[in-house]
Amino acid sequence: MKSLSLPIATLAAALVLAGCDRDETPQPRQAAEPIEAVAVSEAPAESAAAFIARANAEIDELDLEQGAASWVSVTYINEDTAMLASKANARVGELMGRLIEESSAYDGAEMDTETARMMTMLRRADYMPKHMSVPSDPARLLETAEIQSRIAGMYGAGKYCPDGPKSCRTLQQLSEVLASSRDYDAQLEAWQGWRTVSPAMRADYRRFAELTREGAQELGYGDMGEMWRSGYDMSPVEFEGEVERLWGQVEPLYEALHCYVRNQLSKKYGADLVAPEGPIPAHLLGNMWSQQWGEIYDLVEPYPGVTNLDVTAALRGKDYDAVDMTRTAEGFFTSLAMPALPESFWERSMLTRPRDREVVCHASAWNMNPAQNDVRIKECIVPTQEEFETVHHELGHVYYYLAYNHLPNLFRKGAHDGFHEGIGDTLNLSMTPGYYARIGLIPAQPESEESVINQQMRLALDKIAFLPFAKLVDQWRWGVFSGKISPDQYNAAWWELRTRYQGIVPPVERSEKDFDPGAKYHVPNNTPYNRYFLAHILQFQFHKALCEAAGHEGPLYSCSIYDSREAGEKLWAMMGYGSSQPWQDTLEASIGTREMDASAVIDYFAPLMGWLEQKNAGKTCGW
Ligand SMILES: [Zn+2]
Repeated sequence: MKSLSLPIATLAAALVLAGCDRDETPQPRQAAEPIEAVAVSEAPAESAAAFIARANAEIDELDLEQGAASWVSVTYINEDTAMLASKANARVGELMGRLIEESSAYDGAEMDTETARMMTMLRRADYMPKHMSVPSDPARLLETAEIQSRIAGMYGAGKYCPDGPKSCRTLQQLSEVLASSRDYDAQLEAWQGWRTVSPAMRADYRRFAELTREGAQELGYGDMGEMWRSGYDMSPVEFEGEVERLWGQVEPLYEALHCYVRNQLSKKYGADLVAPEGPIPAHLLGNMWSQQWGEIYDLVEPYPGVTNLDVTAALRGKDYDAVDMTRTAEGFFTSLAMPALPESFWERSMLTRPRDREVVCHASAWNMNPAQNDVRIKECIVPTQEEFETVHHELGHVYYYLAYNHLPNLFRKGAHDGFHEGIGDTLNLSMTPGYYARIGLIPAQPESEESVINQQMRLALDKIAFLPFAKLVDQWRWGVFSGKISPDQYNAAWWELRTRYQGIVPPVERSEKDFDPGAKYHVPNNTPYNRYFLAHILQFQFHKALCEAAGHEGPLYSCSIYDSREAGEKLWAMMGYGSSQPWQDTLEASIGTREMDASAVIDYFAPLMGWLEQKNAGKTCGW
C-alpha cells in the first residue's frame, strides 16, 4: 500500500522546518514560538473547520506531485527519479510538520465531530512520511531521513556475493533455493547468505531508534512504537492487550500445525538435524523468514496423491498472462456488484517486470489521483497461485480506494490499517475449488474428506504459520523504539521472540554482530507490521460475516462469496466509511460487532485441527 511518502527529507525540508523553533519539552506545540504569520499562541485566524478544509486541500495537491514522483522512482529507477521523489517527499514532510504545528492552535477548542476526527487523523503515523516520527531539529530531521533512506537502499541493493561480483545472488534467487531445494546445506547457505546484507544496518538502526524517539516525544508520544499503537481508536496499552487476546485465540492451532510439520521435517532430514521435540531450524520452512510455509507443502501433504487444487498448473496450462490474471481478479470484485476498474488502471499500472529497466517488484497498490480515480497496481506478475492471490490482495487495496475516494483526504484510509490489508485476502478465502470450476480455470472435482484436508493444510501453511511472525515483528520494534530492548541485545531479543512465538531457532549461531531483523523488508523500510497480523484475523471474520450475508450453508471453508451482491454490498459499505469514524463503529455498521475476533479462524480450520490432533496424538507438542 502506498504510504504518504517514500524516504529522504532533504535539506529543503530541514530549512523550512527551521522556522519552527522548538525546545526540548515533550509537547513542543505548546512551546512553539509564533515566528511565522500563524499565531500559535493566539486565537487562530481561521475556524477549525476552515483549517481542516485547507489542510485537506493542501495535502491533496502535494499528494498528486508526490505520488507521481514516487511512482516513477520505483518503476524507472535511476538517479533522476530518485532525486525528484526525494524532493517531493521532503515537501510532504514539511507540509505535515507545518499542519501539525498549526493544528495545535485548536487543541481544546470547540469543533464538530468530523473536524475533531480529522484533527486526530492528522497526527497519526499513517500521515507521517514513511510512518516516521522525525525530530524537528533540522540537522536531526535530515539525519533521520538519511538513515532510513540508507538502510532501505542497503536492503534494496542487497546481494549475497560469496566469491566476488560474478557470484552474486539476489533475494529472489536465494528465496528460490529455500522454496525448492531440499538440501539442508544449500538451504543453509541461502539463508545465511541473505543475512549478510543486514549487519551494516545495525549502527544506523540504533541511531534511528534514538532519533525517532525524540521525534515522537515532540509529537506527544513516548516513542515511535507508541505512535504506531495509537492508530487504533484505543489506548496503546489496550491495543497491546488486543493483540495478545487475538493471538491467544489462535495459538493452539499454530502449535498443532507446528507439531505436525516438525515431525515431517524430522522424518525428511533426520532426527539429528531436526529434533522431534524443540524448535525447528529456521531455514527448512521454505521461506527466507519462516513466515509462510506453503513452499514445503510437498513434505507435509496429508494425503499424497489425492487430487489437490493446482492453480499454478491451471494458470500455465491455460496460458494466463498478467492481464488475464488481473482481469480475472477484477471479475471477482465486479461479481460482488462493485464497479469495473477504470480504463486508466489498465493504461497506467505496471503488471509485469519490464525488460529494459530496473524497477521495484515488491507488489503495491497506488491511489494516484483520487478525484479522477486514477488507481494502479505495481507488480511483476508471473503465472503462479501466489502471484494470482497477490493480485487479489492488491486489488483489495484498489477497491478500498475506489470506495472511499469521495471522502476528504484525511478520511481516505482504512478503518484501521488491518482492514486495508485484509480485503483482498478475504476474497482469496472464497477462491474454493467450486469457485475455480465456476470460472472455468479448473474442472469441477468431487470433494472428499482427503481433498478438504489437503486444501486446508495448504492454506494453513500460509495463513496460520504467518500469525506469530506477523505479531512479533512489531513487538521487537516496540521494544527497540522504546529502549526496552537495548542495542547490545538487538539480535538476541529478535531470536528470543522468534523462538518464543514461532518455535524456530537459527540454524547457525548468531551474535550481536548480526542484525537479522534488518533482513526483512519492512524493518529497513519502516513499514508497520501489526497490520498484517490483524488482517489475517479480520479476513476470516469478514469471510464468515459475508458468507452469512450471501446465505451460505455448510462449513465455512466451503463458502465462496463470488457473485453475491449481498456480500459485496456489505464489503463496499464497510470500505466506504474510510477512516471517518472509529473502526469499532465501522465494524458494527457493516458486520454487527464492535470486536475483532479470531473465532472464525478456528471455525474455518476445524477439519484440519481435528486431523492434526489425531496425527499429533501421543507426541509432545510445543517447544
Ligand atoms: Zn497490502
